[in-house]
Order: sequence, then structure tokens, then C-alpha cells
Amino acid sequence: MNNKKIDNTKINNNSYQFNAIATIKSPYQEKFAIPRQPGLVSAAKGQIILQGKANNNELLRGIEQFSHLWLIFVFHGTLAQGWKPLVRPPRLGGNEKMGVLATRSTFRPNPIGMSVVKLDKITPNKQQIILHISGLDLLNGTPILDIKPYIPYSDALTTAQAGFAQQAPQTLLSVEFSTLAIKQLAELKQQHPELKLLIEQVLVQDPRPAYKQEKVDDKVYGMTLYDLNIQWQMQSLTQVKVINIESCN
Ligand code: SAH
Repeated sequence: MNNKKIDNTKINNNSYQFNAIATIKSPYQEKFAIPRQPGLVSAAKGQIILQGKANNNELLRGIEQFSHLWLIFVFHGTLAQGWKPLVRPPRLGGNEKMGVLATRSTFRPNPIGMSVVKLDKITPNKQQIILHISGLDLLNGTPILDIKPYIPYSDALTTAQAGFAQQAPQTLLSVEFSTLAIKQLAELKQQHPELKLLIEQVLVQDPRPAYKQEKVDDKVYGMTLYDLNIQWQMQSLTQVKVINIESCN
């Protein structure tokens, strides 16, 4: 193939237009219950579906040498809601306001997100190249603007200060499954072999709103993973029970 230059210069003023180079296939079908950062739920597996001019093996030459990738993406699910200068980080219990640029809020002046994910494998196919990734925190259908290799010597700064987000969120919950849910998991084993682990890892993060935490809560919650509706309920302050797992269709 000729390595022809692609024109990027049709840019005016301070406004830039980018085309997505890929979209994400993710188990997360809605914002609720997606972990707050990548890497927290290793059982979350997704696929990067390259598209247009980017669906070309040449763009990926050498990428298999990297175990992790940066994904630069559009918060397409929330961009219509705009942004405010101050946001309430869930890490602060939703009570304190911080400047949007001091947080990883999805509601930003430019709704751009960045996540490090693990690159598991690439399935090259003449028509469609797919990067298989895990540990993602992205909504299904998220448009990807760019992919870059993760470079530990420069990207991993172990002595960096991170104020209110210094430590990974504490996971104090334990997860159990009802007899019905165990039976349903067994039936789904073929299609989703890691479903139990995925549900556990997601629920341990306690996806409920910050103000509900550390309070008695008898609400039945629901989340959608793949095409499944998963219902759960708190049994105590620290115990979660998965009650029911059923197909959305
Ligand atoms: N790691 C990214 C995202 C952090 S915010 C960054 O730091 O920029 C993580 C939240 O983004 C998740 O809880 C999920 O609710 C939200 N999210 C993921 N993909 C999204 C999308 N396409 N549109 C809107 N919100 C999204």
C-alpha cells in the first residue's frame, strides 16, 4: 500500500473537527454502574472496532508490543447535557464542589475522556480489524478519537500527588447471589463465561449514588450488562445480593 499523507489541515479559527477512528463494543449499556475509572473491573471486556481509513493494519504495526493503550474518546452519552465550571466529585460524597478541570467528570468544556485499557489481542481480518481490550470504563458505542500506546516510564508516576483521588476507591462490599441468580448464571455460562466475575467486580465498586452509601437501603437496583438486566439489593451496609439476571429482550 502507498503510505499516502492524509490531509489534516482544513482547520479554521480555534475550532477543530475530528472524525472517530473507531467505536467501542462494551458490556456497559448505560452509564449507571460503569466503574469510575478503567482498570477497576478487569472482567469488563470490550472491542475496538476500527473504521474508515483507520481500519487498516498499517496503523497498528508494532502495537502488539504494548500491553496497554490510551483511548481518547468522546463522552457521547452525556455531551448534550453541557457542563458547568464546578462539579461534585462522587469521591467527595457528592457534597463538595471542585473545578471541572480538577476532576474526571464527564461534563467538560470539550467532552473528551481518556482511559488506559489492557490490550488482550488483535484479530486482524481483511474487512474488519478488532482490538480486544479489558478493564474498560466506556459505554457501548463510545466513539474513539485516538489510540496511543501506554508508556510506563513516562505515564506511570508513582510519587504523584492526587489529592482527593489519591487511592483507588475502597471496596467494602461483598457480593452474594440468590439461588435463582446462580441457576441463571449457569444457563448463561456458555455465552458469558465471565459474567459472575464481571457482576461481582462491578457491584463491589458500589455503583449507587454517593448519598446512598453507608445508609440502610432496601431499593431493588437494576443495571444492564450486555443484553442482560441484573437486579440486586443491599442486605446490610456491606452485603449485596444479586437477585435476578434476565434477558432484556
Ligand atoms: N477514564 C475516563 C472516564 C472517567 S469518568 C477519564 O478519566 O476521562 C468514568 C465514567 O464515564 C463512567 O462511570 C461512565 O459513566 C462514563 N462514561 C463512559 N463512557 C461514556 C460515554 N461514551 N459517554 C458518557 N459517559 C461515559
